[in-house]
Order: sequence, then C-alpha cells, then structure tokens
Amino acid sequence: MALPDAGARDVLDRLASLRQHRHDGRRSPHKPLLVLLALGRLARTGSSSLPWKDAEQDLADLIQEFGPPSKTGRAQSAAYPFTRLRSDGVWTLDRDVPMDTVSPLRGGVTGRLQASLEAALQSRAGLVDEVARGLVEAHFPSTVAPDVLVAVGLDPELLRRGGAEHHPADKRRRSSTWPAAVIEAWDRQCAFCGFDGQAGGVPVGLEAAHIRWFTVDGPDDLDNGLALCSLHHKLFDRGVLGLADDLTVVVSQRFSARTLQGRAVYDLHGHRLSPRPGTPRPAGAHVTWHREQVFHGLPLAA
Ligand SMILES: [Zn+2]
Repeated sequence: MALPDAGARDVLDRLASLRQHRHDGRRSPHKPLLVLLALGRLARTGSSSLPWKDAEQDLADLIQEFGPPSKTGRAQSAAYPFTRLRSDGVWTLDRDVPMDTVSPLRGGVTGRLQASLEAALQSRAGLVDEVARGLVEAHFPSTVAPDVLVAVGLDPELLRRGGAEHHPADKRRRSSTWPAAVIEAWDRQCAFCGFDGQAGGVPVGLEAAHIRWFTVDGPDDLDNGLALCSLHHKLFDRGVLGLADDLTVVVSQRFSARTLQGRAVYDLHGHRLSPRPGTPRPAGAHVTWHREQVFHGLPLAA
C-alpha cells in the first residue's frame, strides 16, 4: 500500500474532519455535499469556483435529495454549508458575509475551495477521485453513493477504483458474515416483495440492507437488517420506502411511476413484514431512525 506524498497527505488530513461523525445519530451530509459539488466543478472545469446563484439551485437540490428530511427552506439549507464551511479551513468566499444568512449571498458572492487545497488537489492525478470517494463513502450507503456522484458531476466508477485507505482510524469494520446471516434470517427472499431469485442455487439480486445506515453507526445486528431485492434496497435507502412502527411498508408520495412494473411499488404500501419464526424483528429505534433521517415526503394515503 503506497503512502501518499506530503501534498496529498495534507489534503486528506484537511478534509478528514468532514468524514468524521459528531452528529449523535443525526445525518449531517451538508458540508460534504458542498465539497463534493466543488470537486465535481474542479474536475470538470479546472476550478472549484461556485457562484451563490448556482449553489442556491444545485446545492439546494443535493441537500433536498440526499440530505435528511427537513423543513428548512431550500436557499437557507444551502446557505448553512456555503457560509459555515469556511470555519473548516477548506472553503473561502470572495466577500466577507455573515454566517447562515441568505440575502447577502445574493449580492453576487462566489465560493471556492481554499487556494492551496485546490492546488494540492490538482497536483496529483486521481487525488480528486480519492477525496470524493472518501467523503461519499463516509456519509452514504453503497446504494446511494453512486447517485450522489452522478448528481455532482463525478464518475460513479471512481468507487470501484478502490485505492489506499489513508484514514483507517475513522472507519469501522463491517462484519463479513452479517449480510449472509440477514439474507438467511429472512428466508432468502425480499422482505418487501418476496423476490427470491437464484442463479445456480445462489440468491441473486438479493442484498442485506441496514435499517439504520452503517455510515451513521448502524450496527451489524440482525435486528438492524432486512433482506431486500436490489430495487427495494435502493428505494429504501433513497427514502422512497420506509417502515411504520407496526412493520408495515410505507411508500412516499414523492415516488411516481407510469408503467405497470413501476407502479408495482405502490402495491407495497401497507404490506406487513412477516419475519420467519426466530428472526428478530427490526428494532424500534432503528425503524424510527430511518423514518426521521432517511424517509422523504409524506406516506401515500392508506
Ligand atoms: Zn423486493
């Protein structure tokens, strides 16, 4: 495993704090989303420069789609990280404006990654990808990370390129046996739709989903896991599907589909999970966490 050179090391160190979690169970992807947006611009244009008039749209979109559900207005939700990221020493604004306030930003303020950081990121090929991968993997499950990268204009394939892990201390180890145990506990079928496809006797398109995300301290416990088909895993992690306290499936009004196949998702609404005897029921605390931190929008009417 190659050690990074000093410049790269400095970049990784300065962005490391954005990968750490101080959030007491609450998701806090706002600053990382801003950095990812800036990295996307840097990769595309050679400059991370981000005028507020763009951020007010693009950053607000990202926060709305990939942040926790929130009642904060769009512009305000973007103004928080746009002004506050300055205090992390990685972001500058071309004008001194107060924290958290939208109206001064509309006077034509532009933000960008701190100059020495931007130069360091450009000093080595692959460093932007490495930083983006570290950030996105620290804040999102593998079902959502590629969608975030596409939304900020980065190549989702960068997730596959792997590479040296420079901050092992901020990473928890995943259990290697948990996924198989979850799939077995749910009888090798999707807990939502019952999909049980196999290829050569091995489940295919079936995944172990964390209810409370692993990236936000969700444990590798059986009462924090569901076997879900790939589609329903994705929709569960994107906040389209959720669970009520009585373990019935909830579908968000934000979801829409036109074809019979797409509309089959609506039919899941109200479906009650039935773990086989001996399988722990999903823990109430994890179900509540998912509802408060991931599920977006209002449930369909009963
Ligand atoms: Zn399914």
